[in-house]
Amino acid sequence: MKILPRQTRIPVGISQCAMGDPVRYNGGHKHSKVCTELLARCFEYVPLCPEVAIGLGVPRKPIHLLVDKASADVDAVRVVGVDDPSVDVTDQLRDYADSEVPQLEKIRGYIFMQNSPSCGLRGVRRYLDNGHGIDSEGVGVFARRIQQHFPHLPMEEVGRLNNNELRENFLTRVFAYDAWFRYVEGEGEGEGKEVAEAESEPVAEKRPSRIARIIEFYTAYKYLLMAHNQDATRALGRLLADSKAMPEDELAFAVRGRIMQILSRPASRKDRTNALMHSQGHLKEYLNKEEKAELQQLIEEYRVGHKPLSAVLTMLRHYLPRSPHAFIHSQVLLAAEPAELGLCDFH
Ligand code: SF4
Repeated sequence: MKILPRQTRIPVGISQCAMGDPVRYNGGHKHSKVCTELLARCFEYVPLCPEVAIGLGVPRKPIHLLVDKASADVDAVRVVGVDDPSVDVTDQLRDYADSEVPQLEKIRGYIFMQNSPSCGLRGVRRYLDNGHGIDSEGVGVFARRIQQHFPHLPMEEVGRLNNNELRENFLTRVFAYDAWFRYVEGEGEGEGKEVAEAESEPVAEKRPSRIARIIEFYTAYKYLLMAHNQDATRALGRLLADSKAMPEDELAFAVRGRIMQILSRPASRKDRTNALMHSQGHLKEYLNKEEKAELQQLIEEYRVGHKPLSAVLTMLRHYLPRSPHAFIHSQVLLAAEPAELGLCDFH
C-alpha cells in the first residue's frame, strides 16, 4: 500500500493575529508571511482569537499569567489583568477552548502566537501577585487546553516557523497526522482514495482491517521514522509485534502518539543517512556497478554535508521504478511531499 498525498489543503488552526487581523490587545496584529504566503499553499486556516472571542474587545487591557511560586505546575496559573488582578479570565478562556473542540476535530495542526498568556506554547512569562516576573515557564491557557483535548496534534509557534528545520519538522508532523486520519481512520477525502496499490500488488478487493491499516501505516513510515529516531522506531515495531492482546482503540492511540513523538524530534543528518542507506539496500540489486557507486557517493556527500537531501532523494526516486517490491515503493521517506511543494529547504 502507498499513502497518497491529500488533494486539498490541510485544515490547520492558527492564532488570528498571525493572519494579519488587528485583534491584539493594542489594536495591532502580528502578521506572519511564512504562514499566510508560504504555508498557506498547503494549509486551510481556521483562525481563532480567544481573547476577542470571550469578549475582551479591541483594544483591551493587557493580561498576563499569575502564579504563586516559581515551581508552580503549568496548569496552576490564572490569567489576570496586568493593571487589575481581580479581572480573572482563566475559566472563560478554558471554556472557550472546550466550546471550540467540535470545530477543531477536523484540524491537523495548530500554529500559536508566542509569548501570549492565551496562545503561547512555551516559555510564556509568569508573574507573582506583586507584579514581579518570576520565570518564563508558562503555557498560554487556551493553547494548554487545546493540547489537553488533542494530545497528539502537531503544534508550533509562529516565530519558530521562520526556522527552516523547525518548519520542515512541523510540516512533516502535520502531513503524518493528516495521513493517519485519512488512511487508518478513513476520514477526509473519501475512503479508499487515501492509498494506491504499489505497482507489484494486485488490486485489493476491500480495505484492510483497522489493525492491518495501523501496521501498514507504520510500515510506510518506517524509514522516515528511522530518520528521526532509530531506537524509538524499533521500540514501536516491537510494540506492534506484541500488541495482539491490546484493544484496538488503545493500540491506535498508542501508535499514533509514538509516531508523533518520534517525528517531533528533528531528523539528524546521521539518522537520515542511515535511512537512506536502508533505502539504497532495497535498490542495489537493480543497479549496475557504476550506478551503485554513484548513489553510494551521493549518500556519503549528503552525510558530510556537501549535498542536500533532495539530491539523494531525487536519485533514489529515479531508480525506484526498477524495484518490484511494494515495501520500498510505500516509503513516505521517498515521497514527494513536502519538499516538492517548495515549503522546505532540507538540510
Ligand atoms: S495571541 Fe492569541 S489571544 Fe493574542 S491577539 Fe493573537 S490570537 Fe488573540
